[in-house]
Amino acid sequence: MIKNTNAFILSYNQYKNSSIIASFLTDNSIIQAICYRAKKNSKSFGSDLESISKLNINIYKKNENHLSILKESSIIKNYKILEKSIYSSLAVFYIREIFLHCAKDFDNRYFILMEKTLDALESLEENNYDDKIKKMYIDILIRAFEIKTLHIAGISPNLDKCIICGNSDNTLFYSILEGGLICSKCKNIIKDSIKITENDKLFMRIIKYTSLIDIIKNEDLKNIYNNSINNVKNIMEKSIFNHINKTVKSRKVLEEIL
Ligand SMILES: [Zn+2]
Repeated sequence: MIKNTNAFILSYNQYKNSSIIASFLTDNSIIQAICYRAKKNSKSFGSDLESISKLNINIYKKNENHLSILKESSIIKNYKILEKSIYSSLAVFYIREIFLHCAKDFDNRYFILMEKTLDALESLEENNYDDKIKKMYIDILIRAFEIKTLHIAGISPNLDKCIICGNSDNTLFYSILEGGLICSKCKNIIKDSIKITENDKLFMRIIKYTSLIDIIKNEDLKNIYNNSINNVKNIMEKSIFNHINKTVKSRKVLEEIL
């Protein structure tokens, strides 16, 4: 059966001499496909797979137990400006790796989030900010990407009231395992409570509820970024780890450059 679908590439690995095995994020989970002679036959799809693009692919699916075969691919939209930026390219590497682990459920929101994240990065790159501001916004966008991924996975952080007792006062602790705010009374019965500030809560609320494209226009974030990024980054990193149970390799490289 031939299936035609839009897709983003998540990974590709050399297979034997001249072929590639690629993982595609489609609007209906992840498809693995073999691309025969992808290297030699770059005109048909070899180079498409190496770019940061939204693709349209034709996949031949034999049956459930066989790897699909990529028959044809074409670029719908190429994010060239991201390929030229070291910061955005590394951000895309990270996003792809997260989705390889997270986007296995049949949920089209992962595909939408991928597209919106790329669009936001593109818009940011087009803004010609100086490097410092650009890096700050990429850092924030990645945190927003993480919180939105957790939301799709059904473990959206609860940022309104204590997740144990429902109290909305004195909620200046956070639990990764419980996935939300903890009040000063309940903190004693939680093993992994992390002290947070009002600023951290505000930061997480903004990235949870604001669309990605609006995040890069949000001036308030500039003021709360410095005081809260370390705490929010730590919470997101541990929450993602708790969800996928794996260390994300590309994270370290991205951290070093941002
Ligand atoms: Zn409580």
